[in-house]
Parts: sequence; C-alpha cells; structure tokens
Amino acid sequence: MPIYEYQCKKCGQEFEQLVFGSDTPKCPKCNSAKVCKLMSCCGFVSKGAGGQTVSASAGASSCGGCSASSCAGCGH
Ligand SMILES: [Zn+2]
Repeated sequence: MPIYEYQCKKCGQEFEQLVFGSDTPKCPKCNSAKVCKLMSCCGFVSKGAGGQTVSASAGASSCGGCSASSCAGCGH
C-alpha cells in the first residue's frame, strides 16, 4: 500500500499518510487540507535512504514513474 509523505503548507507539519485512490489527507496537527506531497525518493533529500545524493532537478524530470507507488525499482 502506498504511504506518502506530506507537509502541511499551513503549519509545516510533516506526516506520513496511507492514501487510497485520490484521497487527500489532512494535517493531523491543524487539520488543514492544504498539504503538499513530498517526493522524498526523488526530488527531495531522503533521510535514511543509504546516503544517496539525488539532485532535485534530475529527479523531477527523469523519475516521474516512481512517484506512483514505490521507488524501489527506479534506481533512485
Ligand atoms: Zn498543519
């Protein structure tokens, strides 16, 4: 099941959320629906992923496929 990482645009809270279909999670802290999905595997610095360094620009353009579910097979 896909677990996505989100950050609240209102209060900055980061949280992980199981997402089914097109559900949009709400911030557990302030209950705002203004959250953005963090592409932790590609565009953003991934913490605890083995120290790999991925540039944000390269990830955004070349790694679109892995944002759907898992980044395990995409090499990032
Ligand atoms: Zn919030």
